[in-house]
Amino acid sequence: MRLALIASAVLAATVPQEGKSDKVTVTWYGHSFFTVSAGRLTVAFDPYDGAWGYKVQSATAQICCCSHEHGDHNNVAAINGMPMVLRQKFKNGATTIGGLKFTHVVSDHGGDRGQNTMFAVELNGVRFAHCGDLCEILSDEQVLMLGRVDVLFIPVGGKVVLNAKEADEVIKKLKPRIVVPMHYKTKEATWLASGVDEFLKGKDAASIKRIEDVKFEVDKQSLPSDARPVIYVMKYQQ
Ligand SMILES: [Zn+2]
Repeated sequence: MRLALIASAVLAATVPQEGKSDKVTVTWYGHSFFTVSAGRLTVAFDPYDGAWGYKVQSATAQICCCSHEHGDHNNVAAINGMPMVLRQKFKNGATTIGGLKFTHVVSDHGGDRGQNTMFAVELNGVRFAHCGDLCEILSDEQVLMLGRVDVLFIPVGGKVVLNAKEADEVIKKLKPRIVVPMHYKTKEATWLASGVDEFLKGKDAASIKRIEDVKFEVDKQSLPSDARPVIYVMKYQQ
């Protein structure tokens, strides 16, 4: 108990608080590896090691979430800044670090690949959810536990994660404002079943936004307000 108190006091002192600007910057490093930054505070999700076709990328963050313990999602060594690591695997609930509340929801990685943890966190009023290697249609209970989602990072590449159709089902349930597809077949990750075009097939061009960059900025005021989410197709840093 005493140790936990000391740990949270140290964290409160070391995790920079959110910045004055309302904007949150989202950066993609390829596959499922993203950072979201508000001011000097950065949260990293699912950094990969060098065994998956991508050149290892590093980023600086104070907190790093790993959805599960596969090498394309848990390379914490790629994160500079001695981050607090949230593994919280296979547990539903919430963990507060430096004033940020992380919701974690257990889901299935499919086959005999074990379980996967989805994380949701709010920065400057924008709530982000990262699905990790989700490979099942979420139940109403899981949707409820995850809570409101403004920006959703969701795998669409099939084989070991949701395929394009299954991802659509999950999106319908979570009702995010912005969808960022990830974990799909690329010239680096040739081992996945399908690329992003499979996911975009049949969708209205007006709901697709091509981000010709490895990052974009988002704030609460300018989130898309349509019932239908806007799909952000990003470039990634390699
Ligand atoms: Zn995996």
